[in-house]
Amino acid sequence: MEQGYRRVFAQVDLDAVVFNMQSMRDRLPAHMKMAAVVKTDAYGHGAVPVALAADPFVSFLCTASPEEALNLRMNGLTKPVLVLGPSVGDCYEEMALAGIRPAVFTREQADAADRAGTKTGMRMPVHLALDTGMNRIGMRPSEESLELAAYIASLSGVRIEGMFTHMYRADEKDLTSAKEQVRRFAGFREALGKRGIVPEICHVSNSAGIMELLGAEFDMARCGITMYGIYPSDEVDRSLLAIRPVMSLKSTVSYLKEIGPGDEVSYGGTFRADRKVKVATIPVGYGDGYPRLLSGKGSVLIGGKRAPILGRVCMDQFMVDVTDIPEARIGCKVTLMGKDGGEEITAEEIGLLSGRFPYELLCDIGKRVPRVYLREGKIVGTKDYFKDIYTDFAR
Ligand SMILES: *Cc1c(COP(=O)(O)O)cnc(C)c1O
Repeated sequence: MEQGYRRVFAQVDLDAVVFNMQSMRDRLPAHMKMAAVVKTDAYGHGAVPVALAADPFVSFLCTASPEEALNLRMNGLTKPVLVLGPSVGDCYEEMALAGIRPAVFTREQADAADRAGTKTGMRMPVHLALDTGMNRIGMRPSEESLELAAYIASLSGVRIEGMFTHMYRADEKDLTSAKEQVRRFAGFREALGKRGIVPEICHVSNSAGIMELLGAEFDMARCGITMYGIYPSDEVDRSLLAIRPVMSLKSTVSYLKEIGPGDEVSYGGTFRADRKVKVATIPVGYGDGYPRLLSGKGSVLIGGKRAPILGRVCMDQFMVDVTDIPEARIGCKVTLMGKDGGEEITAEEIGLLSGRFPYELLCDIGKRVPRVYLREGKIVGTKDYFKDIYTDFAR
């Protein structure tokens, strides 16, 4: 195989990341900044190469945890990083030194940021997290929260740089609740302003919000799933934003044989042939994050044609029907997700067949699957975990 990874690899098209970011840039009003959401290792794509590709477009990078943020720093990314989730433990000092912003919505978090800011002498920038309906994290828009915000604003080790909330229903046809969230956010911002607290960067829109231009009156949009070329749901109007899938999943045929009537395939013998069937074995399985629920349902592409899965997907292998694909050979290319000729298997299709949410499917592509990064059709880097690194188990 061209990449030297014979068993399986995920191809990550960095030009598609750039295309998708440009597409969102063109959609968003000029005053809005963009942030790239690269949590969960950039939805399974690899945070560092994705952040590098998105870098020319963005003012911020967003992660879910301080560890993910520090990983970006260790790999040379210099843009401000915002941790969207709660930053727990005594990580604030390290964050302050690295220019990593916590989401703050409790007095304890604010005090921790204040101590870190005071100790490092850097006045730690923080973003207030506002809960406008999701009930996940954030302070509710209330009088009490105004008091908390005033308290945070009074701390000498902290600077309120931004404020954000998260849309939880912007990917639905009915946008009533998303609009209500925007209204609550705007109301709280105004109330803060009356107290002389003006967060410089207010941000509300996620991918669905960007598509619908919800929260486009604020200062920044957080680009998530659409940066990876996947629509937030099947209810959004796709004509609003042109995007291209970033990840493809490729393998090769490892074995080929013909079976006859009565022969069974894979665990449980759930496929039994009633004729001659040409069977190809693919060396990928649910241990790679390829859903077992595709058993007897999914298909792969070989020679630009669909080869249906026969029987159950195993941990490391599964079988497909190549009776109608005479060009199938041991070693030939197999596309599990992505394009081959005129055919395409999308993350949405796999998600639908396997009862998996497309976001989840991408995040769960396993560590055993090397990532190969392409720019203008050329490999510009790879990432694999073949050398497992443990601590404290050395003998
Ligand atoms: C994950 C996340 C995003 C990105 O969401 P998408 O639907 O992928 O665009 C934005 N903001 C917050 C707070 C998130 O947790």
